[in-house]
Amino acid sequence: MGIETDAVHAGVSPDPRTGAVLSPIFQSTTFVQESVENYLAKGFSYSRQANPTVKDLEVRIAKLENGYGATCVSTGMAATTTVISGTMDAGDHCVITESSYGGTNRLCREAFIPKGMEFDFVDMRDLDAVKNAIKPNTKLIFSETPSNPTLRLVDIEAISEISKANNCVHVCDATFATPMICRPLDHGADLVIQSTTKFYDGHNMTVGGAIIAKTQEWDERMHFVSNMHGNIMSPQNAFLTLQTSKTLPLRIRQQSATAQKVAEWLEAHPKVEKVVYPGLDSFPQKELADKYHRDGLHGAMLWFDVAGGDTAAITLMNTIQRPWSLCENLGATESIITACAVMTHANMLVEDRLKVGVSDGFIRISCGIENADDLIKSLSQSLDQI
Ligand code: PLP
Repeated sequence: MGIETDAVHAGVSPDPRTGAVLSPIFQSTTFVQESVENYLAKGFSYSRQANPTVKDLEVRIAKLENGYGATCVSTGMAATTTVISGTMDAGDHCVITESSYGGTNRLCREAFIPKGMEFDFVDMRDLDAVKNAIKPNTKLIFSETPSNPTLRLVDIEAISEISKANNCVHVCDATFATPMICRPLDHGADLVIQSTTKFYDGHNMTVGGAIIAKTQEWDERMHFVSNMHGNIMSPQNAFLTLQTSKTLPLRIRQQSATAQKVAEWLEAHPKVEKVVYPGLDSFPQKELADKYHRDGLHGAMLWFDVAGGDTAAITLMNTIQRPWSLCENLGATESIITACAVMTHANMLVEDRLKVGVSDGFIRISCGIENADDLIKSLSQSLDQI
């Protein structure tokens, strides 16, 4: 089946009791067992361990990402926490991208390093830097592609090879890509992280996360760790995400087309100094974008610099009108403009944030599904004000 068909049908079949076309919301804490001997005969006992609505979404996501299985959790950060604590112990080392979502960076620095784990933050565009950072106690390589918000890409196959050669696990956060654009498990990664809050939801409705595993062994481990931590997704959020994920392929196509148009328009504007979007010929890692991004789709996200530096950028963000919204989040039907320095990446050390290029006036945009000309008109009006 094509990914469009799987997005609608995978994981869901008519309810055997009623014929309901959608998976019901199984709002039940516990599930009655046939007998002591036949405990778990139907696969469910207690909703922290497994819930039928959540299970249906896990089957859907695993299919879309080409994994053995998926574990749905309460947020994207819960997915990251589960992966790190499920693959590393105190004394273990991780090579992690220096260019990640700010919350990932903070989690390592403020939660795991104090508990005795080691992290080296490296520029993963440089494969020698990744190799050189490996130590005898390295257990995990953590990449993110495209990275939030700088849109750096990684050579997933090369990093997976380094990981295998050193008996490590390679986890790739592919939240910005979604399986419509890139499936890291097809390129050798062992685990994928998705913040389903973003494109899987796509409607600014829920927060959620998923860990997709290539093998049964890693899938079981992730379920086990999530069950222990208790960071599960609720059946209500799983139900909503089962509906929104049906239009993921449509939305990604439309949002990519809109982002391409907006990026080209911005690039030609005299007050814009630089636009970074993987669909532009000027994109610094164009070869990697063409290699790893499916169907010529490059996603909804882009960033740009305006003449006049941070002050001008902040003016632009302060004056932007509808259809844009100045806020956090990304990947939704609503177009969003984000001041990363005070929002998504405020939790990084200022020097680390500046090192990867997230200046105080860094403008990240997430194109929604509105009319592209309306989005451009609004950007034009704000650019006139700087
Ligand atoms: N990974 C990436 C790439 C993100 O952009 C985010 C959030 O912005 C997360 C993980 C964390 O997801 P959540 O906000 O759902 O916890």
